[in-house]
Amino acid sequence: MRETTQCVCGSIKSHIIGSVQFEIRGKKIVVHDAPHFICEACNRRSFDSTTDIVSILKIAYKGDLNEISYFDEGFLDGVFAVPSKGIKVKVRSLSDYCDAKGVTPADLTKEELEQFLARTKDQQT
Ligand SMILES: [Zn+2]
Repeated sequence: MRETTQCVCGSIKSHIIGSVQFEIRGKKIVVHDAPHFICEACNRRSFDSTTDIVSILKIAYKGDLNEISYFDEGFLDGVFAVPSKGIKVKVRSLSDYCDAKGVTPADLTKEELEQFLARTKDQQT
């Protein structure tokens, strides 16, 4: 993996792992532990092509999650997502289901995805 990359502003972006906030159709989603590049000069962020941030965001959006964590191991195309704050993704079941259907988690409907989300008691109001 590259450790630095050229930014469009002419400065250098360095590779870090941290939280990145996105806004999708008015909904804020924070992806924690996301590997990405950040430019200290202009604050632009970018993602490596191996980082499937789009799938993570789709899972978070469909599952109505405000936060989700990214781990670069052990799941489908190297993507392994477990949201924080009392909501868990049943990753193994989700992976098996997707393998059986020949799709990725991002292809699932909200209804399909919901069965793999487990909310802890304090999240259920
Ligand atoms: Zn820059």
